[in-house]
Amino acid sequence: MQNKLTFFNSNRAYYYLIFTYIALSFLLIFSYKSIGGYEEKVENFLLNRAIGIVDDTSTNILDQIIFKNPNFIRANLEDKVLRAENEKRLSVLSNQDIKSLYVLYLNKGRYFFLFDIDKEEHTDVSEPFIPENEKFFTQVVKEKKKRVFVQRDIDGLSFTLLKPIVQKNKTVALLVIDYSENRLSSLLRVSVDFLSYSALILLFLLFVFFIYVLYTRYNKYKIYRNPKTNTYNRVYMTDNYDKIDFKNYYVALADIDFFKRINNLYGQENGDKVIISVIKIMASFLEKSDIFIQYSGEEFLMLFSKENRTEEYVRELLEKIRTAVECTKFTIDKEKFSLTISIGVLFHTEVEKSLQEVIHKADTALYECKHNGRNCISFFDISQTQRLYREKLKEMIETDKLVCYYQPIRDLETKELHHYEALLRIEDGDNIIFPDKILPDLEDSYLYTYLTKRVIEYNINKLREDEKIQISVNLSADDLINDSILAMFAQNSDLSDRLYIEILENKSIDYNKVELSLQKLKLFGYKICIDDFGSGYSNLNHLLNLSIDYLKIDGSIIKEIHHDKKAYSLVKTFALFCQQNNIEVIAEFIDSQDIVDILKSFGVKYGQGWYFSKAVPYDELGKEHK
Ligand code: GH3
Ligand code: MG
Ligand code: MG
Repeated sequence: MQNKLTFFNSNRAYYYLIFTYIALSFLLIFSYKSIGGYEEKVENFLLNRAIGIVDDTSTNILDQIIFKNPNFIRANLEDKVLRAENEKRLSVLSNQDIKSLYVLYLNKGRYFFLFDIDKEEHTDVSEPFIPENEKFFTQVVKEKKKRVFVQRDIDGLSFTLLKPIVQKNKTVALLVIDYSENRLSSLLRVSVDFLSYSALILLFLLFVFFIYVLYTRYNKYKIYRNPKTNTYNRVYMTDNYDKIDFKNYYVALADIDFFKRINNLYGQENGDKVIISVIKIMASFLEKSDIFIQYSGEEFLMLFSKENRTEEYVRELLEKIRTAVECTKFTIDKEKFSLTISIGVLFHTEVEKSLQEVIHKADTALYECKHNGRNCISFFDISQTQRLYREKLKEMIETDKLVCYYQPIRDLETKELHHYEALLRIEDGDNIIFPDKILPDLEDSYLYTYLTKRVIEYNINKLREDEKIQISVNLSADDLINDSILAMFAQNSDLSDRLYIEILENKSIDYNKVELSLQKLKLFGYKICIDDFGSGYSNLNHLLNLSIDYLKIDGSIIKEIHHDKKAYSLVKTFALFCQQNNIEVIAEFIDSQDIVDILKSFGVKYGQGWYFSKAVPYDELGKEHK
């Protein structure tokens, strides 16, 4: 009920619709009623027209019949021939609309037939006539004025014209014409009925349509909202991606911190209750022109209208929201606890291409927030120059300026080629852009994934063109858990024995998810290599769980091993660890035979570096793999 009421309250238009419908109904009823009056007017018009003709003609004929004879009644009663002649004269008046036409004479207050022009039921002269509506007859006799009496019956409209024949200021006889106007009046009735029924049907159809509109709108309203909070849900957003004019809003994405703990402690159902309380707190800070969307269970999208609001204002508002949640004491089973939220914000929505992109950026900011310790607000904001640079990069990536250079990885003992590492380059005219120049700028953007996909595609094509070549490609941990990237590997699993996957460890690596992805890739037959090992975030414990095939020791350590004891023993330890765990080691940045010798003494099997070869375009590769 509450929901229905709020539905109507938030949709004033429906009140107006109901009002319009009622007004329309009244209008139709009123029109129907006035049709009755109109009908009568038309009838009267028809009547007057018919009477007018009959009346004029009959006056002439009666004049001829009476012919200034004060005894015309007697004369006609006595002279059969005269009477027949006069009846013939009168019959001129007769037409298909006249039911009967006769002349009555008065004798001692009673009526008798003088003429009757009805051929079928011809009444004999002098026969008495008893009128049904005697008072009309008496009235005409008395007043000596012609009158018309209308009768409405099922057959239609009929009327009687009573015309007095006056002699010496006394009514001596009456001309009676029963007239029926069936054709036009019945046509009129049919049209009126038709119009009335059509109007009723129209009204009914309108009613059905109106109910249908209301019903579907209400259903949509229900589908689009969380009934407990009356705020929009994800379905609303996916249905309205193109309709939400995101450029007019500052966009914030909030996520409850450590919500899984709440679920674990109090159960899913209580978790839901907590979510509702959090929504209520947050939504209370929004205004009518803002939009609140429950983006997923415990993630909320807030679109703050830019109208009359500065970024600073929204900054403060968001801080108030964050603090309000932080300060609230939630109670479940008499136990009090508090929780916090993290918020990622994008202010410069006007330069974005789609709502998805906007959300993606707000999400990136949110991600940063989570890594900065949660319970805070992060703003996605790149400087204008960065933005322009990114635009340029995007253009270059999209216009196929992307290529891969290849650096060989060799067996340190035999110097035989093992495979090539594909290294991304962007050819901007004669200028070659290296990935370390691009990737940091793209890391928080969807372009990063896009770029990875292009690289994979590029190398899959090479592997299909050149059946002997073996290539490794680089993936970030984020790429690895991306479904569309995984799908590419799945679709090309026939190449899995020649395509190696190098994974860059980073601080945000979610080992559980990565492990799942790796298991899938291994099922397809791909060999996995951990890249840049030892450069920062490596976690030996997790490595064992990831069931990897190769480990590439970071170049920054390798290049130091012949003069830095720490680097030396570090690599030695890594090599031993890998030997014990059946992991092959690859060393990078090898620039001399000295380093090769040291690595060999540790049992390191493979290596790459300028000592062997720089990365070169495919066309410049030697023929050894072919
Ligand atoms: P973080 O601080 O990183 O956000 O940690 P978190 O535990 O909140 O993790 P995350 O946001 O990644 O996951 C949210 C979890 O919330 C996943 C799911 O178990 C739970 N969750 C999602 N939607 C709902 C919901 O509608 N109701 C309940 N009760 N739990 C939900
Ligand atoms: Mg979440
Ligand atoms: Mg969360």
